[in-house]
Amino acid sequence: MHNQVVVIGSSNIDLIARLSHLPKPGETVGNAESSQAHGGKGANQAVAAARAGAAVSFITSLGDDAFADSMLQDFKRSGINTDYVVQHKNTPTGTAYIWVDAQGENSIAVAPGANYKLSPDYIDECRILISGAELILLQLEIPFETVEYVIDLAASLGKKVMLNPAPAQKLERKHLKALYNLTVNETEAAMISGLPVDSPEQVMEAGKKLLSMGPEMVVITLGSRGVFYLTKREQKMVEAYPVKPVDTTAAGDVFCGVLASQIVQNKKMMEAIKYANAAAALSTTRLGAQPSAPNQQEIKAFLDQHEF
Ligand code: ADP
Repeated sequence: MHNQVVVIGSSNIDLIARLSHLPKPGETVGNAESSQAHGGKGANQAVAAARAGAAVSFITSLGDDAFADSMLQDFKRSGINTDYVVQHKNTPTGTAYIWVDAQGENSIAVAPGANYKLSPDYIDECRILISGAELILLQLEIPFETVEYVIDLAASLGKKVMLNPAPAQKLERKHLKALYNLTVNETEAAMISGLPVDSPEQVMEAGKKLLSMGPEMVVITLGSRGVFYLTKREQKMVEAYPVKPVDTTAAGDVFCGVLASQIVQNKKMMEAIKYANAAAALSTTRLGAQPSAPNQQEIKAFLDQHEF
């Protein structure tokens, strides 16, 4: 389908505890407030892309528990094509245990469950869908061999691939070379480039190194410092929007999903980044992963408010 983003990645149930401060090893913090939300980097990015106006199909693997049913309903409500969601018997849906402190900082432990059953064989069953994609969006919360398999397949079909290598892991050159877009946060930028990313000059150097490793474009998200974007022809630093964050859990996911939605809608890259930057800033002012992803009207209203 024209303008279609195919997201291939994880789905998790997020079990969230909001605390005064994050517990240190051996420490018990007894004042937590608990809540649940649908998360997982793949699902967050799929929902963010769909809410931002893209046609999205999601390839993901769920368990056979109640979490899986409510996730499926939620994907459908967000307008995602769920025909390629697979469910495995006697398998728990992926679960993330998330702590968020009073400043909105987080610590996360992930139990992958069904996500680790998303195999290269299953990707073969999705070949028709993948052949019709405009852009394939990947993260690293599914088996690494599946990610590599998808990149090779997409390259053989001449498809654009956008990779958000989170959680951070090194990739082979041949896979980095096959990427249309590599979007990384500071941790991922430092790990893959092997360079520090503290000062603006270091960010630029790390960006250049990443670009030299093969992708057509590199985007480094820098939290409250904004976004650095670079291709062979241009490079630009974009400031973050001034907001008061309450939960930064899925800011990077919202950024990636929204950026993908803008790329398939043929937006100019700077415009696409500005839109994703606004959507991600807005998401930090709300709780939860998927619930925090804004829709087109909300992003537009935020941009109108923040036009300087
Ligand atoms: P991750 O969640 O992967 O660590 P970042 O922290 O870099 O990613 O955040 C991704 C994007 O979200 C940033 O580039 C920015 O657009 C937005 N963002 C994150 N934190 C803030 C903040 N405190 N203020 C404004 N925007 C933010």
